[in-house]
Amino acid sequence: MQLNQETIINQDLKENIVIEEIKVFAPATVANVGCAFDILGFALENIGDEMIFRKTSTPGIKIISKGLGNLPTNPEKNVAGVVAIEMMKNEDSSFGLEIEINKKINPGSGIGSSAASASGAAFGISKLLNRNYSTHELIHFAMQGEKLASGAEHADNVAPAITGEFALIRGYHPLDMIVIKAPKNLYCTVIHPQIEIKTKEAREMLPKEVALKDAVIQWGNVAGLIAGLHQSNYQLIGRSLQDIIIEPQRAKLIPGFYNLKMAAMDSGALGCSISGSGPSVFALSEGIETANAIKAAFDKVYFDKGIDYHLFVSAIGKTGSRLIQ
Ligand code: ADP
Repeated sequence: MQLNQETIINQDLKENIVIEEIKVFAPATVANVGCAFDILGFALENIGDEMIFRKTSTPGIKIISKGLGNLPTNPEKNVAGVVAIEMMKNEDSSFGLEIEINKKINPGSGIGSSAASASGAAFGISKLLNRNYSTHELIHFAMQGEKLASGAEHADNVAPAITGEFALIRGYHPLDMIVIKAPKNLYCTVIHPQIEIKTKEAREMLPKEVALKDAVIQWGNVAGLIAGLHQSNYQLIGRSLQDIIIEPQRAKLIPGFYNLKMAAMDSGALGCSISGSGPSVFALSEGIETANAIKAAFDKVYFDKGIDYHLFVSAIGKTGSRLIQ
């Protein structure tokens, strides 16, 4: 809609006119993927938030928060707002942005709740304003949101939330990100115990140094995992999905972690570990039948624990953030 003379005269009445509107799906993501701490993540197919972006006649950024999480609506305190502020620095200030977040991934879940909002915002604003930002530029914008949520500009959630598939972050100076297509029959099962673990706190508990012998085992596993994904070699993926450095530290934050892991492996999982900084736990499997069997096994472990939990089964997301109707 065009701004006409009357609209401008009536600006004082603060009638905020929507000029254009788009709707975006922003996926949940699993980062670290066992051994690949801070350098690898993948997108889930159908689990994620919905966001509506509106270009409005009144300058400024407005956040509307719906769904889970009771998120801050001050744009400086909401990751989507931080990304919007950064992107609006490149625009003239004759219009405003309204971002409605329909949060379906609980904040602090470990499946990239903040990353979904940050990536969805970078993607959505770029689309709404018809900007042709590259994938790397979108990731850089989204990383500003992650900085707010976790204190670090990490990309292992936001990159796959933008690209889909697996995203490998080889380095940051400059950002070197490689998309790795998931094997066709790879599925993920997630259990999300309804307890909150703040990424910031889960990072602070990690050791500052690791023994060389542990590092050798770990980077062997990372290399094996990447090769396994490339070759669609499920057995190699399974052998490589072992984290001897981070998981033993963070397992104590998750009630019954080793029971979940044992149940997943007994049900045929290729591997099972902590998603991001937890509390969500993920298992990868070949085929949806095994993924569903793992879901039932997780359910059994948590059934009488007295903690609420959510269970998901998903394919690996082929696309990251995307336009929806
Ligand atoms: P997760 O791994 O689930 O993203 P984090 O601990 O990294 O969890 O981020 C959650 C924190 O980020 C919470 O303190 C939450 O209030 C804050 N936050 C700010 N804006 C958002 C948003 N739009 N979506 C999710 N979390 C947000």
